[in-house]
Amino acid sequence: MQRPQNAEGRQSRIAEYFGSNVFDLRAMAKRLSAHDLEIMKKVMKIGGKIDSSLAERVAAAAREWAMEKGATHYCHWFQPQTGATAEKHDAFLWFDKEGNPIERFTGPELLQSEPDASSFPSGGIRSTFEARGYTGWDPSSPMFIVETENGKTLYIPSVFISYHGEALDFKTPLLRSNNTLSIEAIKTLHLIGEKKVTHVTTSVGPEQEFFIIDKKQAMKRIDLSLSGRSVFGRKSPKGQELEDHYFAHIPSRVQAFFNELEVELYKLGVPVKTRHNEVAPGQFEIAPIYESSNIAADHNQLVMKYLKSIALKHGLVALLHEKPFAGVNGSGKHVNWSMTDSSGRNLLDPGATPHENLVFLTFLCGILQGILDNSEVLRASVASAGNDHRLGANEAPPAIISIFLGNTLDKILNAIETGNNDKINAEKIMIDLGLSHIQNVAKDNTDRNRTSPFAFTGNKFEFRAVGSSGSINYPTAILNAAVCDGLAKLNKKLEAKAHNGTVSSNDLLMILRHVIKETKKIRFEGNGYSHEWRDEALQRGLSNFANTPEALSVLSNKEKTQFLVKAGVFNDDDILSRLAIQQERYVKQCLIEVNCAIEMAQTQVLPVCFSYLKLLLKNVKMASDLNLPSPAKKVVETFSDAVSHVVSTLETLKTQLEKISDGDALEHHNIGNTSHIISTHFMLKLQNLREAVDTLEGLVPHDLWPYPKYSEMLFGM
Ligand code: ADP
Ligand code: MG
Repeated sequence: MQRPQNAEGRQSRIAEYFGSNVFDLRAMAKRLSAHDLEIMKKVMKIGGKIDSSLAERVAAAAREWAMEKGATHYCHWFQPQTGATAEKHDAFLWFDKEGNPIERFTGPELLQSEPDASSFPSGGIRSTFEARGYTGWDPSSPMFIVETENGKTLYIPSVFISYHGEALDFKTPLLRSNNTLSIEAIKTLHLIGEKKVTHVTTSVGPEQEFFIIDKKQAMKRIDLSLSGRSVFGRKSPKGQELEDHYFAHIPSRVQAFFNELEVELYKLGVPVKTRHNEVAPGQFEIAPIYESSNIAADHNQLVMKYLKSIALKHGLVALLHEKPFAGVNGSGKHVNWSMTDSSGRNLLDPGATPHENLVFLTFLCGILQGILDNSEVLRASVASAGNDHRLGANEAPPAIISIFLGNTLDKILNAIETGNNDKINAEKIMIDLGLSHIQNVAKDNTDRNRTSPFAFTGNKFEFRAVGSSGSINYPTAILNAAVCDGLAKLNKKLEAKAHNGTVSSNDLLMILRHVIKETKKIRFEGNGYSHEWRDEALQRGLSNFANTPEALSVLSNKEKTQFLVKAGVFNDDDILSRLAIQQERYVKQCLIEVNCAIEMAQTQVLPVCFSYLKLLLKNVKMASDLNLPSPAKKVVETFSDAVSHVVSTLETLKTQLEKISDGDALEHHNIGNTSHIISTHFMLKLQNLREAVDTLEGLVPHDLWPYPKYSEMLFGM
């Protein structure tokens, strides 16, 4: 695919078409008054409400802009709890008083729409309320135009809420958590003397991993096309052991796909910057320049959507599942996260002077406290059927939530903790500890611990436990709320020591010392994959939830979810509904995999094995009829051996098929119990069935095997 050309017929620079399909501040500046533009600027930066008259003017401007670009329709674009996005298009068509057709798009139409909410997951919330749901414009994320070969539509990023205001989507919790986190962080900053700060925002850069395989091959496997994961597949003779895929040359077919993907994303204002081969064969990564978390989350949805659709255009399939192939690495989505204040300062930047270091250390302590106290809910926020294959396996962060700070910071915190002078001189201690140099050291600190689920990387945290296929809104919202809780607890301590609303540096350091002591058990610098860590974590009292149903159970414990209510992210009913939705999703996804496996085993594997068996038996008979001399007889015996091997494996297959087809096992259970039965019994049965099928894959002649093998799919580019 050619990059867009400009008027002189040369290839346009990215900057020339970046954001060309976005109704951003540049586009608004041409169509709104200076006053209206100022309000929009503020709302886009720090949030806020828009009154109906401004909405009217913005709607008119957006329609004009969109129609100039050829758009005929608009839609509220929202994020129900399916992990994907939803949209219902309306034409700009209307009639004037005389009945003549005109184009119209009004303020109320921009502000709100009322899709039929009854077919979206609600976790039972709406059985007690009306089935009505509303989508409402989120003015902090810009509108954009989606172009297809068949027309253009104006997309309006929106929240999705129930009639009574419960959040039915993934966006609303993030917006709410950003608000409360800002309020709490401002309080912290004011208490430590940073009185000028007016707001704090969160920034996110999500690194998206995925697999690319040939479409023709993917379509031959219903497990991949329906569940996104290969439920069968014998280990390829070559996998990732030569470490020759990571950062290797991008195959030209994939490069062509990346080119088109990037052009589409640039037009939509998605600042994708990095692309490279990942560790597993067939695996790749695309990462953007970080943005404010709400926009980053919207953009990640667009990245996922375009990854899939552009791949198809190139005869490829992009697999976003966390573990499409057993035996090679799975895919995650490292969510890089930081906080920025109204002056543009990154609060997680260690800074160059002792004073800046103190701001950094204060926020670090708030984060340590928040993660320690809410680690189980954080774990639940990344729980999914797909991610179960990743977390806890030796390739991804473990299911135990801990924090990695790096050698230098760890030492600094230890030194603050053990410093035994009661009358401390903050400034002197900072200098004595080498704290005035944290910035340089932290930046140089490249001993990246890939085994940690939550790692400090220079001036941000990297939440690595997030899965590749889902929305980042939800885990980011929970992370924000957890940090908000940590800061609130810290603020209480600061308030108790404050004089005229400010805490002295010495008192602050004493408080931080205390927090560092209290939160020590959440810090871990070692190898997260090791068995020793599992044992140690258990001793430290850290939880290790091996699968989704176990991890989700924390959501029914009000004491543990209270911080979400306090942060205004959810009410108690919301949390229970999220629990029910996540459980249901887990069960359905697992059952789709199970059903794919049954169908493939029965309609593909068994018939092929029977044909092969028939052929073998014919050969055995033919050979014995020939009454061959002794050396040849030995060779012929291998036919009989092959028969026995195939027959015995088929027997196992038959037994495992019967076991896994036992639907009664799930009857009469509520969704919670069903999810536990699935994780403890059915996933094991699926594994046993897989072993039999994969053994047969190694016995049956290659050209008879009914679906593409790992060796073909992973090395086909
Ligand atoms: P790596 O794979 O080495 O971790 P990448 O460059 O692939 O690094 O991804 C790092 C991500 O972190 C990018 O999206 C980048 O924009 C983002 N990032 C960098 N600084 C910050 C920050 N202060 N806050 C949030 N995200 C950040
Ligand atoms: Mg990366």
